[in-house]
Amino acid sequence: MAKSSASSETQITIEPPRFDRPEVEIRASTRRKKTGNAHWSGSRIVVQIPARVRGRERRAFVDELVERLLTQRPQNAGGDGALEERAHVLAELYNDGILPVSVRWVTNQQARWASCSPGTREIRVSSRLRQCPEWVIDAVLVHELAHLQEADHSAKFYELADRHPRQNDSALYLDGYALGLGLRIESDVDAS
Ligand SMILES: [Zn+2]
Repeated sequence: MAKSSASSETQITIEPPRFDRPEVEIRASTRRKKTGNAHWSGSRIVVQIPARVRGRERRAFVDELVERLLTQRPQNAGGDGALEERAHVLAELYNDGILPVSVRWVTNQQARWASCSPGTREIRVSSRLRQCPEWVIDAVLVHELAHLQEADHSAKFYELADRHPRQNDSALYLDGYALGLGLRIESDVDAS
């Protein structure tokens, strides 16, 4: 039923969708020691767990993470810590593990959804995005993370950013959101 593939550090198992939950990808990593994490990737839920958690314990661990994700509101309540943790998960999935120095919510960006200073490796995300679905925030984070590798909006940049499967949906969503808020959005890269 579930198919597995193994690598040196991470074992991936895909569970097909059920009536009460979407497809779940379980990534059991030897690098993870205690905590787990679940997030949306397109229409699939990706769960990251420590490889040492096995059997029934693993089943319960995964179920709890999936349940928590399915019942939580779009991450309005999350602070900088949650945002940063999410960025790190996404960096591992989509940005070759290249991490920013800091990721935080800011309230002083009226004309940008987010910004990245490639020089100082800082990412800031407008608190206006707290109202948006998680997948939109994810796509924005992946976009900003890609700037750590490619400062400009070059073809190579879009190859990186578009690894997130809903990058185009996110751009459309945010265009509509900006229209609704009467905002004119500016470029997101700081010269530094
Ligand atoms: Zn950009």
